[in-house]
Amino acid sequence: MLFESSLDLDLELHFMDPDPQAPCKDLGASFTVGDINDSTAVRDFASNLDLISIEIERVSVEGLRELEEMGKEVYPSSELIGMVQNKARQKNFFKEHGIPTAPFVTVSGREEMRNSSMKAPFVNKIAVGGYDGRGVFIVKSDAEIEKCFDEPGILEELADIEKEISVVVVRSKSGEISCFPTVEMVFDPVANLVDHLISPAEISREKSEEAEGLSKKLAGQMSLVGVMAVEMFLLKDGKIWVNEVAPRPHNSGHQSIEGNFCSQYDQHLRAILDLPLGSTETILPSAMINILGSQGYEGPPIYSGLEKILDLKGAYVHLYAKKITKPFRKMGHVTVLAKNIEELEKRILFVKEHLKIIA
Ligand code: ADP
Repeated sequence: MLFESSLDLDLELHFMDPDPQAPCKDLGASFTVGDINDSTAVRDFASNLDLISIEIERVSVEGLRELEEMGKEVYPSSELIGMVQNKARQKNFFKEHGIPTAPFVTVSGREEMRNSSMKAPFVNKIAVGGYDGRGVFIVKSDAEIEKCFDEPGILEELADIEKEISVVVVRSKSGEISCFPTVEMVFDPVANLVDHLISPAEISREKSEEAEGLSKKLAGQMSLVGVMAVEMFLLKDGKIWVNEVAPRPHNSGHQSIEGNFCSQYDQHLRAILDLPLGSTETILPSAMINILGSQGYEGPPIYSGLEKILDLKGAYVHLYAKKITKPFRKMGHVTVLAKNIEELEKRILFVKEHLKIIA
């Protein structure tokens, strides 16, 4: 999707991915298969390039730092990526910068948890390596500490969540900041992944503005260059807590391709190239439905029901060209647009009911 936007700006993109079958393998000017966590591989890949960016934050910070030392432009910076790779450091950043977040303590393992001031229920998260809910454990009683991750991490208060919301914020190299309207994410309770999201979120204007204000503040505090998703909890008592940030194009910004004047991908490129940012205004309310591999199927994907979706007014299909489907693997997304929320809800249901990824 970033590549699609790059075409309109006449840019030359070079990709690196560990998977020889990666969807980007035939798209850019070159494709390098390599371990993105290996500093030498990252440095060698990019040592002849002008500007380096990422679409996943689990990448060698050391490799990126070496590229910066060689005078390369790296956005977001290796420092910011290094910070967000560690949930404890990220939470400490929020705390030190006055960003509201779930109260927490950092722990080195179970031994420290047993003696901690945090009493159940709470949430245990590993500091490094968790994603899509893996590495997150909700502790309902103190006895469950024995089931926690025996490794460095955090314990944080269980949030009484009304809605999970997200803002994609963008900051250019010269400091121009803008953000997309707040979106709300609806999770699949089994897969622990975003099932679908609605843009703009069905929350009060006051709360949207508060979430957007917090996101812009963070972008400045973090000296972000590029786009960053700020994931937040809107609590039942009306408070907003920042959960975590992802400094890259994000799932919660996919709908901006059709739903907003300028997409998150356009904005990311503009920001890192220090071009004027575009308008993030909503064209029509939109929803993004993640298309996950169906349970019980593994192998080359078959997109069952695709014709029905292509026939649906306001539906835009994005298949990620992954060679193999597995249960809950993100295989694509569908964005639907509609003039009002009732129609949007109907279209979400239609997509969920008819499009299945089997093998
Ligand atoms: P990951 O980085 O793996 O996505 P998150 O921190 O986003 O992990 O947590 C995954 C999900 O767990 C969240 O989307 C939310 O539903 C739930 N969760 C995380 N932290 C809390 C919390 N403090 N209180 C309640 N639920 C939480």
